[in-house]
Amino acid sequence: MKLKTSIALFLIIGFSINSYSQLTPEENTLSEIRSEGFNNSEAINMLSQLTDIYGQRLTGTREYYKAANWISAEMKKIGLQNVHFENYCSDCRGWTIKTFKVEMVAPNYMNISAYPLAMSKSTNGIVSGEIIHIKSFADMNKLQKDFTGKLKGKIILLGEAPKRKSLLDTIESRYSDKQLQRMEQKVTAKVKVTPLPELFEKWEIDDKASETFLKFVEVEGALGILTTRPMYLGVLHPDGTYYFREGDLKPLPYFTIMPEHFGRLYRMIKLNATPTIRLNLQTEFYNEPENNVNIIGEIPGNDAQLKSESILLGAHFDSWHSGAGATDNGANCVVLVEALRILKQIGYEPKRTIRIGLWGGEEQAFLGSAAYAKKHFGALNEKPNSASEKISAYLNLDNGAGLIRGVYLQNNEFARPIFKKIFEPISNISLGAITVENTLSTDHETFDYYNIPSFQFIQDGLAYNTATHHTNLDFIEYVHENDIMKNAVILAWTIYTLDTMKAKIPRKLN
Ligand SMILES: [Zn+2]
Repeated sequence: MKLKTSIALFLIIGFSINSYSQLTPEENTLSEIRSEGFNNSEAINMLSQLTDIYGQRLTGTREYYKAANWISAEMKKIGLQNVHFENYCSDCRGWTIKTFKVEMVAPNYMNISAYPLAMSKSTNGIVSGEIIHIKSFADMNKLQKDFTGKLKGKIILLGEAPKRKSLLDTIESRYSDKQLQRMEQKVTAKVKVTPLPELFEKWEIDDKASETFLKFVEVEGALGILTTRPMYLGVLHPDGTYYFREGDLKPLPYFTIMPEHFGRLYRMIKLNATPTIRLNLQTEFYNEPENNVNIIGEIPGNDAQLKSESILLGAHFDSWHSGAGATDNGANCVVLVEALRILKQIGYEPKRTIRIGLWGGEEQAFLGSAAYAKKHFGALNEKPNSASEKISAYLNLDNGAGLIRGVYLQNNEFARPIFKKIFEPISNISLGAITVENTLSTDHETFDYYNIPSFQFIQDGLAYNTATHHTNLDFIEYVHENDIMKNAVILAWTIYTLDTMKAKIPRKLN
């Protein structure tokens, strides 16, 4: 009896505190978001499952599809509705490495730290040959003149030895206040509107620039290619080749090797001590277009007037193949899902529909987001349709796993006061630098082209550009749990604030 009375008393007191709260609804929601996001964060657990159990998610692959199934189940578990896949590519092929090894076997032994570039085909069993150096394939006429008849049975060392990075350079860094201030002080943006069709055309040409070279060296009988990228201390940076469609060229075995090993092989040639290399690479190609899916889900809107509008969130789900895609871009996918988990958990019922798109094929020129935009907002060369006008904003995350420090306005000055309002109450989490500038090369550019207010956040670089972007180090070790926890809170608060606004974010073109 006594016990029951005290519980009842506690409930009355507890209830009174909430009823007579001095907090505004906004302050109350922010407190709830922070409390859920900081006390019960699921972000790092989700990221561990995604990157440790599923790992790399190269476009076209079974691994991508398995991971997509896992995250869509997570999305359902947190209460998202209309969770489904939308196919974005009918002829993007899959490619898997079964095994590989690269060794120097003469004049003495060295195990070479290497990784195959995506879409390389197998060696014919274990093969070996002497190294021959080719500086560049920029001038194919000269190259054909110099090397015709000289490549049979050889392994090509392609490029020049990268300069040694100073060990005093910082591997991991955050934006200084000064750097952010400088970004804020900019008054004009480099690009007014993303020229998407021109970009796609240019990338297509760049991506296929090596085709003549690859065909020539194969016809001449070369066994494989070793190249490198000037990364820090032993890091491997193997991303494309970009021959990702059925019927595209299957390049001969093509490896990136660590800068120090490249340097040694390069110097040995100069010293007339030509190395012999032994190669083994076994890969498999397959065509399973069902693997090529965007993952979509939503919290439906509840306001009679506004539920036909939506706020769209996106991040690319695909990765390159030598790491586990933790900083590019698993952490950001997880942050978006976690932000929606927080909103569901605190019982927020949005006015507008909050929709998430995890895109495939971003690394192959925005294949996923572009297919989504074409399907829902109209063809690339036409005026965006009326459905595009129903999107209040598109928010994108894809600049590594670092803390959000502000936002790129993408030349939309009308959004400045809105983001000021968003960042002000969370200034102890993020300084909230707002720059008119744009940032390039990820999926927000797709939606910017469709005149949807589209924003990519400014994120601390950490080790992204020095060590993890597209490299064999892209694992959860380079993700700070506190950063992704804070990012999810920032996103949940941003979504809430945009949703409670009466109007959509103004378009930069009217
Ligand atoms: Zn990325």
